[in-house]
Amino acid sequence: MFLRTILWFNARTMDYEAVIGLETHVQLKTKSKMWCGCANEFGAPPNTNVCPVCLGLPGVLPVANEEALRLTALTGLLLNCRIPGLAKFDRKNYFYPDMPKNYQITQYDQPSATDGWVEFEFNGGLARVRITRAHLEEDVGKSFHFERHSGLDFNRAGVPLMEIVSEPDLTGADMAYEYLNALKDILIHGGVSDCDMEKGMVRCDVNVSVRPAGSRELGAKIEIKNMNSFSGVRRALEFEIPRQIAALKKGGKLIQSTRRWDDTAGVTEEMRTKEHAHDYRYFPDPDLMPFAPTEAWLAEVRSRVVELPLARKQRFMREYGLPAGDAEVFKNDVALGNYFEGVTKHTKSHKAIANFLVNNLRAKLAEFRQSIPAADPQTKEGEVTTFKMLDYLRFKPEHMAELAALIDTKTLSSSAAQQVFSEMFETGKSPAAIVRDRGLAQVSDEGTIEKFCDEAIAAHPGPVNDFKSGKAAALNFLKGQVMKLSKGKANPALAGEILERKLKD
Ligand SMILES: [Zn+2]
Repeated sequence: MFLRTILWFNARTMDYEAVIGLETHVQLKTKSKMWCGCANEFGAPPNTNVCPVCLGLPGVLPVANEEALRLTALTGLLLNCRIPGLAKFDRKNYFYPDMPKNYQITQYDQPSATDGWVEFEFNGGLARVRITRAHLEEDVGKSFHFERHSGLDFNRAGVPLMEIVSEPDLTGADMAYEYLNALKDILIHGGVSDCDMEKGMVRCDVNVSVRPAGSRELGAKIEIKNMNSFSGVRRALEFEIPRQIAALKKGGKLIQSTRRWDDTAGVTEEMRTKEHAHDYRYFPDPDLMPFAPTEAWLAEVRSRVVELPLARKQRFMREYGLPAGDAEVFKNDVALGNYFEGVTKHTKSHKAIANFLVNNLRAKLAEFRQSIPAADPQTKEGEVTTFKMLDYLRFKPEHMAELAALIDTKTLSSSAAQQVFSEMFETGKSPAAIVRDRGLAQVSDEGTIEKFCDEAIAAHPGPVNDFKSGKAAALNFLKGQVMKLSKGKANPALAGEILERKLKD
């Protein structure tokens, strides 16, 4: 009794920490399904992309989609995994109304990739989460529930699905959210998946337990199934972690169980308890040969490895001296980032160029986006990517470099540079031609500016006296007058210097 009291007391006062692991399911970007030639396509009319194989009819044989195997191995390489010499497919047996075979083909104990890690920005630093494995399986169909009946659509049945399992290295809701976004960025950059959340291409199971802070033992694992948004994962964890801690603090005991997230109510609810791997009676699929990647096959996959998004961002900051915000834009918008790198071949003014691309060009492209499908009947609205838009640019990358040079040499004021950019975008004319035709060149000739300064001083004795009696701000007023007299063309820094010199005489 005494011992129980102490344990109870401890439970009430001690701090707890969360231990989180994620299982992320990702639909792969293949043309056809995993075991048959049906199209892997979203949004087709129900049951139009089906055949005897994906409907699980008797007597059919699956044939593995090699591109799906390649994309899984590629994911392994992008996530610093080991690619085992042999992978095999197993049957996971359970009843599922939208899976006609009553088993799912997956990889049980010999997956396509193991033992990796992913690094991402978190809390102002870098976080690393270990990856247990990435394996290949198949998606199931989809049920629809109407008022008086239900419908089944098997278009999704047999779509290649990859599961990425993390080690329980995540410690909180925000960290889980950042991890998922980093993973998604990597998969999109690598061309593994479009990761379109709206189309259900990424879903997640969350394993979360809590334990006394500093303890090494894991608490009872509670799984939250079938999350279809990253913000949902974050909200579910924000609910579930305090729920578990509160239960333990009250002296309760948690048991291994599966819960579902009710997004509307903002709570998790228990679905079932205790479920073990042996309940699924996994066994090797007798219809599929184990897969042993050859060196040549792996070399081909390795040639598809791309620079990781985080490495790209870090490189843009390091090589071009860009602020984190601009580098982040070029990390996410690969086409714009590539374009930037193209322009840097013609100029050393990297920051000025980045600034124009991130602010001015992006704003222009956003306006421009609507006009492309009309101009190009081959293009549908959803396909108007930055890649596509950059093809339509009227000006050349060299013109961007020329514009940066005009700013650097102070030939153009920043407001005049905006005008030149606008016209360049619309007409494709070179900046030099625009400056010449519209007389936009900044006046840096001292004699000319001096005349404007004299005029401004003579016309405004009040501010002149203010400045002389110590009100430094009066100089800005006089500088404004000089800009006005010069119709905005005087070099403002030079105008300030000359005014100050004259007033201090
Ligand atoms: Zn099929």
